[in-house]
Amino acid sequence: MKLCDKKDCTGCFACKQVCPKNAITISVDNMGFCYPEIDDIKCVNCGKCHSVCHVCSKITSSTETKKIYRYKGPEKVRLESSSGGFFTLIASFLLSKGYHVVGVVFDEDYYGAHYEITDSFDRIKLMRKSKYIEAKLNDVYKDSKKILQNGGKILFTGIPCHIAGFLKYLNGKYSNQIVTLDLLCFGNGSSYLYKCSLAKFVENNQKNGVVEKVDFRHKPFCEGSHTVMDILIGKELYSMPANSFPYYYGYVNRLVFRNSCYKCIYNKINRITDFTIGDVPGDHDPLGENLVLCNSQKSLDIIQCIQSFSESGAFILADDKLVGAIREKLSCKRIEPPLYSRIAKQKDVNLVIAKYLKANNKKGVAFLFRKICLKVKRIFTK
Ligand SMILES: Cc1cc2nc3c(=O)[nH]c(=O)nc-3n(C[C@H](O)[C@H](O)[C@H](O)COP(=O)(O)OP(=O)(O)OC[C@H]3O[C@@H](n4cnc5c(N)ncnc54)[C@H](O)[C@@H]3O)c2cc1C
Ligand code: SF4
Ligand code: SF4
Ligand code: SF4
Repeated sequence: MKLCDKKDCTGCFACKQVCPKNAITISVDNMGFCYPEIDDIKCVNCGKCHSVCHVCSKITSSTETKKIYRYKGPEKVRLESSSGGFFTLIASFLLSKGYHVVGVVFDEDYYGAHYEITDSFDRIKLMRKSKYIEAKLNDVYKDSKKILQNGGKILFTGIPCHIAGFLKYLNGKYSNQIVTLDLLCFGNGSSYLYKCSLAKFVENNQKNGVVEKVDFRHKPFCEGSHTVMDILIGKELYSMPANSFPYYYGYVNRLVFRNSCYKCIYNKINRITDFTIGDVPGDHDPLGENLVLCNSQKSLDIIQCIQSFSESGAFILADDKLVGAIREKLSCKRIEPPLYSRIAKQKDVNLVIAKYLKANNKKGVAFLFRKICLKVKRIFTK
């Protein structure tokens, strides 16, 4: 049996979860990305792994987006969210209707991130904010399916290729019990390179320090864009421009992605989920503003109900200019940056960090200048 080409594999591991013979093992590449490998001795050629793979047999039920909104949640929520806070609104709305919510939280030590399933609002708060690293799926497909088999309902949120894996794993069943929400996805960054970058950062600043918080999108200084990163070690807060943390430099410059991201099959206007959310491009509210793409009748019905939900915030239909900009973004061809193949071949992660993911000091100075200007502006506007 042959699985999809390694270059196209998104690491959802639906194949491993359906294999009745435990014949699929995991191999890891230099950048720490995991791939399935079939043990020919154990394999009985049943073909289940091939038919569950969303790359080998594509999802055919995608639909063109029906309506696009700009959304701004309450200020308090937006400060704690990456963008306009739509995730918090829909998660709390569906939680109140008895749904469980699947989303991504940091690991307890902040050196990685994983998907989890919850029915608690406290855990949903931890799902807020984009963790720009590949999140481990662990058993989230299996655990979600168990809830659905018992008649439960689920809001599944995450990146498109992970939701595709989930939908294939469910094999078209339970569609009345699930709501899916994906993100406009730039790419999945190597969590191994992130972990090594963070360890080096801690070592250079506070040997043996304990990381208490990581925030890829500190607000309000980033003025809505994701350019400021915070790392809290013990009681000391390090706030820096994205480009000066090696991993984040690699992420924004597309140097640390999984191979499949360079020819992503989900970056298009036809979506496989009910909702797609992202950032409003160009001019938008400095505290953050969401794009909300409604892709199904179910999503339109939910939006109708949600607007009367307490503290729902403000929805505005996107104008033609914005719709055009989104269409253009979703039809852009993705290309692999020239340095990528050299980085992917390197076995020494410290060398990758020191040589290829170097901080950009010019941008650092510009950042400090902007930060001072913003502080002064704030003092005068108080
Ligand atoms: C890897 C990644 C790439 C993105 N690329 C783009 C982009 O190119 N353009 C764009 O407009 N928007 C992008 N986004 C989406 C954007 O950053 C915001 O997450 C989105 O606008 C939602 O904002 P919010 O305020 O509603 O959400 P928040 O409250 O900040 O919601 C967080 C949501 O993101 C999910 N999430 C967080 N980290 C991960 C992760 N590592 N993997 C999967 N799901 C995660 C949570 O489960 C939750 O559903 C990306 C997000 C991620 C995680
Ligand atoms: S099912 Fe997922 S992990 Fe398995 S080969 Fe396909 S994309 Fe890769
Ligand atoms: S063909 Fe069947 S037995 Fe072989 S790896 Fe795939 S799922 Fe497992
Ligand atoms: S860019 Fe595409 S392949 Fe890469 S993580 Fe996002 S959805 Fe998956």
